[in-house]
Amino acid sequence: MTHEVIRHLLDDYVTGELTEDARGPVADHIAACEICRAEVESLKEILARAAELPKSIDPPADAWLNIRAAIERDNLSHFITESARYCSDDRGLAEFPPVHAAK
Ligand SMILES: [Zn+2]
Repeated sequence: MTHEVIRHLLDDYVTGELTEDARGPVADHIAACEICRAEVESLKEILARAAELPKSIDPPADAWLNIRAAIERDNLSHFITESARYCSDDRGLAEFPPVHAAK
């Protein structure tokens, strides 16, 4: 496998999702290629930092008040009323009004 092919496999290599057949040649290439070795280190660092992120974030208590104020300020209340109508009746998604592509 060439450098160009292998560099597209590095993500799967780092996450352990690479097939066993491909893992050996990729590991051999990484050992010999400074660019790919640096990319692997970078990917590992990104994954480690991502793992430290919280799994969820609670919105601020006043988030909805701010959203509602922005909607009312921009006069989008008709959009909310229309959305609520579609969400509150028994019709399936297939019966929603068609979305027309821009011409
Ligand atoms: Zn390489």
